[in-house]
Amino acid sequence: DQNLGACAGCGVAIQTEDKKKPGYAPASALERKVVICQRCFRIKHYNEVAPVSMGDDDFLRILDGIGSTQALVVMVVDIFDFQGSWLKGLPRFVGNNPILLVGNKVDLLPRNINLNRVRNWMQHEAKERGLRPQDVVLISAQKGLHIDELLARIGELRKGRDVYIVGVTNVGKSTMINRILHDFGSTELEITTSPFPGTTLDKIEIPLEDGRSIFDTPGIINREQIGHMITPTDLRKITPTSRINAKVYQLDPEQTLFLGGLARVDFVRGPKQPLVVYVDNDLYIHRTKLEKADEVLEKHHGTMLVPPTGEEAVQALPQFVKHSFKIKATGMSTDIVISGLGWVTLQGKHEANVVVHAPKGVSVGIRKGLI
Ligand code: GDP
Repeated sequence: DQNLGACAGCGVAIQTEDKKKPGYAPASALERKVVICQRCFRIKHYNEVAPVSMGDDDFLRILDGIGSTQALVVMVVDIFDFQGSWLKGLPRFVGNNPILLVGNKVDLLPRNINLNRVRNWMQHEAKERGLRPQDVVLISAQKGLHIDELLARIGELRKGRDVYIVGVTNVGKSTMINRILHDFGSTELEITTSPFPGTTLDKIEIPLEDGRSIFDTPGIINREQIGHMITPTDLRKITPTSRINAKVYQLDPEQTLFLGGLARVDFVRGPKQPLVVYVDNDLYIHRTKLEKADEVLEKHHGTMLVPPTGEEAVQALPQFVKHSFKIKATGMSTDIVISGLGWVTLQGKHEANVVVHAPKGVSVGIRKGLI
């Protein structure tokens, strides 16, 4: 094979032979100063993502080398979708290497959030999954928030070693790499970012001054991400683009809130109390009586209760599964977190029995209230 270099967008080896395989670029594209593959070209210019035939095995093969090298592993997660951000085999890939956990999209959190609690919660969740990060840094790759702090922590923790950046697709890893490149002063290379999962195809190397490098690894696909259960258009509808505002609902017992058509929160028992919803500001929230909720869903799923939008999308959504929670009157708030969608806060002034219905595979759990 002729070496035609790597795509400046996603890092895959450029080839001009097979349109369906990764890295295809028409011969004419090779004459440009910065060469990108046709897939990245389409994403950049038409906002369209072309599927390529690269399987999970290829991704795993690339990640597999990390455990046997000495490196700092930087794992990027979306703080709105911790479960969906999780790389299942990570403890195995990492070996004995130190880990820095990066929570991205901090720009979307409501203003009065206690960031220490976010960090503690992330440490806790990581530990539950067999990983003990050295530290947690919260950033916004998109807004460029706390990138200095991130680079400083990487500098301290890597102790002269290489750095591997890992993460599943859609957590904002490419956006973060672009930020880092930007802060290193290299604007020539820009990695393709897109709202669709699966953009980075091969390892990208950013050389460091001491002869070491930062390696960006391909995003692994986590099928439990809510983004893989709905269409790209619907994904855009539930992905917040600006800071989330709290929406307060004073609920009587036996009332239900539909979060679009993607989840349902039943306030089954307890004194009247506020449920505070934190989801995309434009997501339609519908309140109804618990006894009518099944019927309402049956009748309006895909039409009024969207996303999923349309009959086909409703059919493609995994079945709803129930998750029950008993909130005690401790005086401390509790968040019920629906991964990829947001969370609902109960203030803990009164007892409450809450049942959340969410598509199978979407994790629903509780944490100490962040506010
Ligand atoms: P990757 O698949 O992990 O490389 O993810 P991308 O970098 O392509 O980003 C996925 C989506 O998340 C894109 O729509 C980005 O615009 C968005 N995104 C990335 N970083 C941030 C961030 O800091 N804040 C917000 N609000 N969105 C972000």
